[in-house]
Order: sequence, then structure tokens, then C-alpha cells
Amino acid sequence: MKKIIIAIDGPAGAGKSTVAQIVGQRLNYTYIDTGAMYRAIAWKVLQDGLSVNDIEEIITIAQSINIKLNYINGKTKVFVDEYDVTAEIRDPSVSCIVPEIAQVAAVREAMVRLQQSMAAQGGVVMDGRDIGTHVLPNADIKIFLTASIEERAQRRWRELTDKGFVVSLEELTRDIAARDKKDCERDISPLIQASDAILLDTTAISIEQAVIAILKLCEERQDFV
Ligand code: C5P
Repeated sequence: MKKIIIAIDGPAGAGKSTVAQIVGQRLNYTYIDTGAMYRAIAWKVLQDGLSVNDIEEIITIAQSINIKLNYINGKTKVFVDEYDVTAEIRDPSVSCIVPEIAQVAAVREAMVRLQQSMAAQGGVVMDGRDIGTHVLPNADIKIFLTASIEERAQRRWRELTDKGFVVSLEELTRDIAARDKKDCERDISPLIQASDAILLDTTAISIEQAVIAILKLCEERQDFV
């Protein structure tokens, strides 16, 4: 019996982080939000007054940044050094530039190394874009979580509005579509469903139903603990 590794990939707003976090809680596994890691780099780029064209500086940041994902009161908190960036990395100004930063090969190499070391002990739920295809190709369970663009934009809008951000649904739909396009079309580790991943479309199902479906897949494994 072993603690397994669960990889959850999919486009923006499909509910990956919410679902992955709950699955992690229920199994008492560690949840790792890899999008937050790329967002933390983007946050630092903006903080340092750099642009997405400052490739050398961005690589230096990715190779030296001190990112911590801490689990506090049922939520993942993201720290850069000792600074809590959990809220700031969700700002649309950050979302907008992350795909540009995430397509730099050396940035990805640095993050993938970190992610692989975080998952080395097992007992991990990791979500992102390339987890099942590239970061953890031997993951025990791979899920490709998706939903229609309209549903994903609605969810993001509600999430951001609840946090006090002022955004229009139309603008958000355009931003998400643009981000998906960049993530799917980039040369290195593009967003695609791994051949052995199970497709879970959450357009018409609740978060709880998605969680239950994933837990059921875990229980079906003989070696699962
Ligand atoms: O998951 P989230 O939407 O927070 O990810 C933000 C961005 O980070 C994505 O749009 C993508 O550009 C990048 N990302 C990535 N690979 C991952 C996770 C996120 O390229 N494994």
C-alpha cells in the first residue's frame, strides 16, 4: 500500500484548484498549486518593474525565487520570501502576463525541478497544465478537468468579484480564451490531455461531484492508501 500521486490538468477556470484542494484535504494529501508558482514569478516581475521582454532577469528570478506553499486553516497560502502574495497573484495584471513567463524554457525547467522534488514522497495532489504530460508522467491517477468557456468565465467572475476585484464578464471571457490559446499553442509543454488521463467535464456537475468522481478512482486502485 502506498500514498499515490494525483495529477490534475486543464484550462483556466475549470475548477482544478478548488477540486484538487478538497481531494487533498479528504485524503490528507499535500496539495500543490503549480499555477501559483508561475504566478509568483509573474508577481515578482511586476514588483521589480520588469516587462515580459526582460528574459534574462525573468530567468534569474525563476532560478532564485523562494516560493512557499503553506497550508493554513484549510487554504493554501503562497509566500515569496516571507511576504504573503496569496491575494496579489490572482490580480488580473498578473494573470495577463503569466503565460508569457511560463513559456520561457529556463523558467519551466526551474519550476518543474521544484515540483518534482515536492512530489517525490507521494501523497500529493498537483494541479497545472503539464503535470500528467511532463512533470509527473508516472502519476498514479491523471485527470483532465475542463468545462465550457462560458461556465469557466462565469466561475472566475464570481471568484474575483467575491474577492473585491472589479471585472467585466466579457473582458474575463476574452482574457481566459487568450490565456488558453497561449497555453495550448506554446512550444514547450503545451496544455494537452495526457493520453492516459481521464477527461472530467465539470460544465454541468458540481465541485462535490467532481471530487467524488476522483475519490472513486482512487478507491478503485488496489494499492491506494
Ligand atoms: O492554474 P492557473 O490558472 O493559476 O495558472 C496560471 C498560468 O500559469 C497558466 O495560464 C499557465 O500559463 C501557467 N501554468 C503553466 N504550467 C502549469 C501551471 C500553470 O504554464 N503547470
